[in-house]
Amino acid sequence: MFKKRLFICLVWIVSFFFLNTAVTPAQKKGQLNQFRQLYPELPTPNAYRTASGAPGPEYWQQRADYDMSIELDENKLRIYGTETITYFNNSPVKLQYLWLQLDQNIRAKDSMREKIGSGRISDTMSFRGLERIHSDFDGGFKIEYVKDEKGTNLHCKVVNTMMRVDLPQALKPRSQYSFKVKWWYNINDRSKIGGRSGYHYYEKDGNHVFAIAQFFPRMAVYNETEGWQHKQFLGSGEFTLPFGNYKARITVPSDHIIGATGVLQNADEVLTGPQKARLKDARDATGHTVIIVTEDEAVQNEKERVDTKSTWIFKAENVRDFAFASSRKFIWDAMAVKFGERTVLAMSFYTKEGNPLWEKYSTKAVAHAIKVYSKFTFDYPYPKAISVLTGSGGGMEYPMIAFNGGRPEPDGTYSEGLKYSLIGVIIHEFGHNFFPMIVNSDERQWAWMDEGLNTFLEYLSEQEWEREFAERNGPAYTITEYMKGEKKYISPIMTAPDSDLHVGSNAYAKTAAGLNILRETIMGRELFDFAFKEYARRWKFKHPTPADFFRTMEDASGMDLDWFWRGWFFGTDHVDLAIDNVKWYKVNTMEPELAKSVEWEKKNRNRKRYISNIRNKKEIKETALEKDKSLADFYDEYDPLEVTPLDEKEYKKYLASLTEEEKDLLKAGHNYYEVAISNIGGMVMPVILKFKYSDGSEEVKRIPAEIWRIYNDSVSKIFVTKKEVRYITLDPFLETADVDTRNNNWTVQEEPDYFKVKKIKRRPEKNLMQLIKEKK
Ligand SMILES: [Zn+2]
Repeated sequence: MFKKRLFICLVWIVSFFFLNTAVTPAQKKGQLNQFRQLYPELPTPNAYRTASGAPGPEYWQQRADYDMSIELDENKLRIYGTETITYFNNSPVKLQYLWLQLDQNIRAKDSMREKIGSGRISDTMSFRGLERIHSDFDGGFKIEYVKDEKGTNLHCKVVNTMMRVDLPQALKPRSQYSFKVKWWYNINDRSKIGGRSGYHYYEKDGNHVFAIAQFFPRMAVYNETEGWQHKQFLGSGEFTLPFGNYKARITVPSDHIIGATGVLQNADEVLTGPQKARLKDARDATGHTVIIVTEDEAVQNEKERVDTKSTWIFKAENVRDFAFASSRKFIWDAMAVKFGERTVLAMSFYTKEGNPLWEKYSTKAVAHAIKVYSKFTFDYPYPKAISVLTGSGGGMEYPMIAFNGGRPEPDGTYSEGLKYSLIGVIIHEFGHNFFPMIVNSDERQWAWMDEGLNTFLEYLSEQEWEREFAERNGPAYTITEYMKGEKKYISPIMTAPDSDLHVGSNAYAKTAAGLNILRETIMGRELFDFAFKEYARRWKFKHPTPADFFRTMEDASGMDLDWFWRGWFFGTDHVDLAIDNVKWYKVNTMEPELAKSVEWEKKNRNRKRYISNIRNKKEIKETALEKDKSLADFYDEYDPLEVTPLDEKEYKKYLASLTEEEKDLLKAGHNYYEVAISNIGGMVMPVILKFKYSDGSEEVKRIPAEIWRIYNDSVSKIFVTKKEVRYITLDPFLETADVDTRNNNWTVQEEPDYFKVKKIKRRPEKNLMQLIKEKK
């Protein structure tokens, strides 16, 4: 009994081992399969957010409306404001307090960022760097009061960049509460202190360009996944904001021109007759820009300052933020963009220092991006989109308005790099209207959800701008240097930006490259575009989480992408697939001549190679047999490759055992290539192989990543072809971010090996019923 069982086990082990080695060695002990589902990493679906990635039947979100009066003091470089916030509690729970964001406090003297900022002295320091260390700028909100509607002070507590406002009575579900905040702050010089907002001073004419944002206490987001999102603002993690309606009265010197979120309500009061007429022309103009404030007028404007003030009134609906730019230096142009059923006004505000680049490209880049982004998501829903020249580099996004840097040399010349980076940054910052301004993700926690998706669409827009547009981010090959770097310093994409050393590489570049790989290689354009659009459509004017994105991409495409999210978003492994070996085989048809030579070759292959190089063979002058011919017999003379009647008989017997179909298969003359591929990097990917045949033709075979689903480390696959293969290249178009392509090429051996095809009959299971019957 025991013996019998042992025997059975042995058979099973042997057959398992055989299968195993025939395919691949097993993965490392204890290693978890990369194709296991993502259940532990994702939140449990519920009535708010469903397993399909769509908002559920009980989805809710809060709302905050703002009514603001703002005054900009150009002499003191200060901004003053009062706001009435009306907060709508759409949640099913009572709120005892509200949290607001005081982002300006990052520049307060005792700010947390100042305290936790680390630094080193290097051999050479820039003056700007040194000035920053010495800066005693008195930034941060000076909150004058927080009052309820009746004018009673509300208790509040400032916690670094956050402020808790305690309510006299808990705010009930489905009710609203209005309160007032009054504040002012000193505006920072962006060229010295940096920051997403601030002013730029033009020394030559003594004027400023104000780029004003994060300038009012803003409601934090309260939702069912985070509660209050009041993670401190430390600089990298951007903003998490609820939607609402805004009304802003902005008072500035009356020679200023303002570009802002929302629609201007009092053009009659703040624009001149000609300006209004030109703005009307721009609304009718498509295909070309109309200048509303000309360069000559701007130059005239900046020559002296006026003492009078004007108040510009803007209204914006269903936006998550408000920003504006103001200067007497502004040139202003606009152009109507017609697409689908809609007409949107694309506009630019820039100084003469931005020309000739800005008048040529800015508004047209915005117009271009409106169309391309709308195609991949949904029609851009806001009435306008503004690009403002605010500094010398970089950009920052707000609803309907973006601050962009990049201007030519004083003589008007510019480099090729500047041209493309400016067009790129304008497209990118406009693109943020979609992610996160409308598809309103939590930037403080998941930078990739806006930066990555936006960088991906920026890449697609750039490709549609110009065929040879230099790719900064997007294609898989652009991320390999980062991904093969020192893993100690690399975090997964799913890391909050303030804890990530490589926000740029992770949130922007790696995410964008990952989406490109999904679109071009894993899902294909049709499936990807459908699913991506579905995600944008589902979460337009809502707050998605990472799981909502991952789930929607799977739900709409019918693909299980858990392995990809796990490797690319939750992991830090890089991609390095390698061709380990390619074996070339042909079928041994058993025709006697071939069968004999194959057999002889197999037996003597090693001996032949050994003999061909052996020295003592040459040193032996004469062998016994050479000296004495009488020693020879049959075996010294017969030809081992000669076909005998016995061989013919065997062959006939073999043929007789085959069906016609089996005979055809035997004689078809196929080449069989067994390609062994290993996964060195850890991140699995589709296997893309280019076969170059001996007749010079080429063929590309694409194998889904699921080939790795059982063995993550190495696999082998058989390819059958009538043609003979000379070379095989893995990832020939650099689609998969493979960091080492030196192990991706293989030259196939010159001679094939042959294999026999036998009829293997399954041994039938013992039929006990029959045996017992026979015994009887
Ligand atoms: Zn961005």
